[in-house]
Amino acid sequence: MSYLFLLLFSLLNPPVQVVLDPGHGGSNLGARSHDKSVYEKDLTLDLAKRISTHLDSLGITYRLTRSSDRYLTLLNRSTMAKGWKPNCFVSLHFNASQLHNRQGVEIFYPEESHAPALEEITKLAGTGRDLMAQKGSVRPLIVGSYLNTLGKSISSSGSRVFAKKLAWRLLADGFKVRSIKKGDYDVLVGTGTKAILFEGGFIDNPRESITMLREATRDRMAASLARGLAILCRSSNQLY
Ligand SMILES: [Zn+2]
Repeated sequence: MSYLFLLLFSLLNPPVQVVLDPGHGGSNLGARSHDKSVYEKDLTLDLAKRISTHLDSLGITYRLTRSSDRYLTLLNRSTMAKGWKPNCFVSLHFNASQLHNRQGVEIFYPEESHAPALEEITKLAGTGRDLMAQKGSVRPLIVGSYLNTLGKSISSSGSRVFAKKLAWRLLADGFKVRSIKKGDYDVLVGTGTKAILFEGGFIDNPRESITMLREATRDRMAASLARGLAILCRSSNQLY
């Protein structure tokens, strides 16, 4: 009986493989297209929905942090994602630059946070023991903080590989990739999984703006991203 219940539960609630986070929303407009006709918040939602359609056809499970034009804080987004325990997290954005002359996709992954060295762990453990003798509640805090640091380190190295492999997919599908770099973005911290921030081109650049405002280009980009995500996010431990 309980086996049947578990089977039914897992069929109705399959594990989430990908979380898509359409950047901005509501009063947070984001960048504006060169012709001033579109805001970034609408393009990110459009791209997320297109990726979703492609993920559906590839049999990949996903959640969106927002599926309408509404405001969310960065903490709302990462907390929501963490609760879903996904295999990967992608925050979607479009870019702008001061001189309006840049082009290409940029992918950011979180800063590497190094796990403490062995001496530090020993020291922490020792301190924890000493403190435990005095105050019972301190040790779990220290151990928790260490595990948190270690967790960030694991998800950071996974995120770097994830960013690079996704960039290869885009390059193979004919997109210009301008850079893959470390980015200290709050939305990438605390998702509990490998996480990247994807900038799908510079919409303030007169030429790139025309290209990205075409539905066909966004759909091609969505298809390429979905193909990459289907390989890179199918299982949770593939890149660790
Ligand atoms: Zn943005």
